[in-house]
Formats: sequence, C-alpha cells, structure tokens
Amino acid sequence: MMDPEVSVRCCIAGGGPAGMMLGFLLARAGISVLVLEKHADFLRDFRGDTIHPSTLEIMYELGLLDEFLRRPHQEVRTLGGQIGDEFVEIADFTHLPTHCRFIALMPQWDFLDFLAEHAKRFPAFHLKMEAEARDLTVDSGVVTGLLATTPGGPIRVKADLVVAADGRHSALRERAGLDVLDLGAPMDVLWMRLSRGPDDPGQTLGRVDTGRIFVMLNRQDYWQCAFVIPKGGFDEIRARGLPALRQKIAGLAPYLRDRVDELKDWSDVKLLSVSVDRLRMWHRPGLLCIGDAAHAMSPIGGVGINLAIQDAVATANILTPKLLQGSVSQRDLEAVQRRREFPTRATQWLQVVLQNRVIGRVLASTAKMSPPFPVRLLGWVPFLRRLPARLIGLGFRPEHVGASALG
Ligand SMILES: Cc1cc2nc3c(=O)[nH]c(=O)nc-3n(C[C@H](O)[C@H](O)[C@H](O)COP(=O)(O)OP(=O)(O)OC[C@H]3O[C@@H](n4cnc5c(N)ncnc54)[C@H](O)[C@@H]3O)c2cc1C
Repeated sequence: MMDPEVSVRCCIAGGGPAGMMLGFLLARAGISVLVLEKHADFLRDFRGDTIHPSTLEIMYELGLLDEFLRRPHQEVRTLGGQIGDEFVEIADFTHLPTHCRFIALMPQWDFLDFLAEHAKRFPAFHLKMEAEARDLTVDSGVVTGLLATTPGGPIRVKADLVVAADGRHSALRERAGLDVLDLGAPMDVLWMRLSRGPDDPGQTLGRVDTGRIFVMLNRQDYWQCAFVIPKGGFDEIRARGLPALRQKIAGLAPYLRDRVDELKDWSDVKLLSVSVDRLRMWHRPGLLCIGDAAHAMSPIGGVGINLAIQDAVATANILTPKLLQGSVSQRDLEAVQRRREFPTRATQWLQVVLQNRVIGRVLASTAKMSPPFPVRLLGWVPFLRRLPARLIGLGFRPEHVGASALG
C-alpha cells in the first residue's frame, strides 16, 4: 500500500497513450515518475485501435518494434471508400519513409499493456491503478503536486512537474482554470462490432451514401464499425428503434444483412460524442497538459492516439534534461506547447474543413452520392494517394525519440 504522501519528480494523471508513453520515456531516462490511472485495468470500451506508422517508428526507435508486432494485430496498407456505387482507393501507405508502411490495428488495451509491461522494467517507473487525480496542490501560484483517491484512501503526491494526460474530460485542466477553445463538430459517432464472414471484403473501408457514412475496420474475425450521425442525433435514432438502425447498416453494407441482429440492444452501440477543442495555454507553472487533455481531436483520420504519443515524445525530448538537472521552468513548458501546437492546429484545421465541407454536407444530403472530383483524382492517379497516407500516417510534425530523452 502506498504512503498517504508520495514524492516523485513527475506525476502523470492518466494512463492512456500519452501518459503511458511519457511515463515510459521518463522512467527510461531514470526520472522517478508516478502514473495514476483511475480505472482498475486498461480493458475498457473500444477507444480506437489505430497505431499509425509514426507511432510504429517510435516503437522502432525504442527497440520495441519486433516484440510489439508479435502481438496480435492487423495491418492496413491502403484505405478505400465506396461513395454511392463507386469504389475509390484513397490512401496508400506502402511508400512512406518508415519501417512500417501500414497502420497496425491493435486493441488500445493491448498497446497500453505492452507499454506498461516494458515501463515496469525501469526502477524509476511507478504505476498506480484505481487512483483518480482529483485536485492540484498549489503553492504561491505554482502547482506542487496533486491529490488523488485510491482504494486505500486519499493520497497526496508531491511532484516537481504534474502532467495532465487525463483525456478529453480532463479534471486537472479544469482545476487549473485553463481556457478551452471549442472548434465544434457537426457529427457524433456510433461504434459497434459485427462479426466478419469469410466472403466479406478484406479491406478496411468507408461507405458513403445518401445522408450516411459508415466506416468498417477489418479486425480479422469482426468488423469494428463506425456509423456517423448528425451531432446530437442519437436520441432520435434511438426513438426510431434498433430495427431501423440495423436496416440502415444492411443498406450500406448488404453482406452484413445476416449479422445486423448481433446488435441485440442499445448496449451494443456506443456513442462517441465528437468534440474538437484545444487549450489556448497548455500549461501553468508546475503543470503541463498533453494528449486529449490539451486537444481533443475529431475521429477523422483516426489520429488521436498518435498525436497523444507524439506529444509524449516531444515532452520527453524537451523536459528530460531539465528534470534530470533541476527544475522545469515556465519557459520549458512553453517550449513543449510551441513544438506541438503547430501539428495540433494544422490537423484540427484539416479535420474541421473536412467535417464542415464534406461530412456535414453528406449527412444533410438527400440525393444519391458520387465521388467528388478530388476523390476521383485519387482513384485515377495512384501517386496522389501518397499524400493522404502521409498526412494520416505521419502527420504534420512526426517526432523522434531524441538523444536528450535518454538523459
Ligand atoms: C469511441 C472512440 C473511438 C476512437 N477511435 C480512435 C481511433 O480509431 N484512432 C485514434 O487515433 N483515436 C481514436 N480515438 C481517440 C483516442 O482514443 C484519443 O485521442 C487518445 O486515446 C488520447 O490519448 P490520451 O492519452 O491523451 O487520453 P485517453 O486515451 O483519454 O487517456 C486518458 C486516461 O486518463 C484516465 N483518467 C481520466 N481522468 C483521470 C483522473 N482524474 N485521474 C487518473 N486517471 C484519469 C482515463 O481513464 C484514461 O485511461 C477514439 C476515441 C473514442 C472515445
């Protein structure tokens, strides 16, 4: 059982991709780090499974790639979509300048378990499950630690740096009074699982037709499906009943017709309320927000996990020498925001343009759809499919594990 008061160099609230990767990197450099995760394990609802080439490259740089890829996963090398009656290839990852020229689909809990397992090999790494960060401790305007609840009672953690990696509903960013810029989203997403038959297509794909968008990720024996709906439209869909939803899905992907009954009740359908936001300032003295806590991303491109990882790597690159040598200044925290703000803003800008100009319009459409000219062009000219692959697979500023992160 942990003492009621613990002292570490860095305390990270949240054991998601951002928190676990940062915990791993800091502990690897010999910095004492405590990660608090409010859940008892990583095995929770579906939260996205896409491990992009940029993250796989980081695993390579950490010497973990071969072992990582021995875990069950699927590899997506191209992305395509059916718009109306036409199928178009949209992205081709096979030309990326990375060791892995594919997206790996792996349940997020397996990825987090893998990181935790490796991080635990470093004596400086401490992970406390079922520990919920509730509040910050502040002394003369400087964050000096946090208060958390655990099954053994409340604990107080003293830390030179607190990192809020507690996700899109971050309690710590709220406690810190950091200002959130909400960019809005015209849609929500319903996530569900349907089994995959031997004669189903192999490719991960999207289907777009009159007022409907349906994305299917090939998970070998099942499809992880995303049904995009207008923002706030879930109540209306529920009121129309599950048979109507099943019918819509079967209309978009007729080969699922014999399986839509696997959606037995509404507990088989999970609502992701899409939000796109970012903090104007990611820090205050003694506190830094990263990952979704600093910027919730739209699901477009499935980049949330990867941006969270990139934030963690940049944070480790910039702050490791500071944490090893002395204290972390406000200027150091500013440097992390400066480094990661451009890729965040650029990605969100692109997502918002696509949300408003494409997704919003498709959801409002009543006529039969056909691919717009730029999408047709991707279908005709294979070379052009490298651009979306680069944006999705690597993003605007891929990070690399720097020598400074080694301490
Ligand atoms: C349904 C769904 C589908 C998604 N699909 C994809 C996808 O396909 N690809 C993709 O890249 N992204 C996807 N995302 C987004 C992706 O999950 C996030 O962008 C990513 O996980 C962000 O990582 P993070 O570490 O910043 O935050 P999170 O993954 O949200 O992790 C935060 C962690 O902090 C814990 N926590 C919260 N509050 C506290 C507290 N007070 N104290 C201690 N612990 C706390 C949470 O339990 C959680 O484990 C999806 C999200 C959802 C909800």
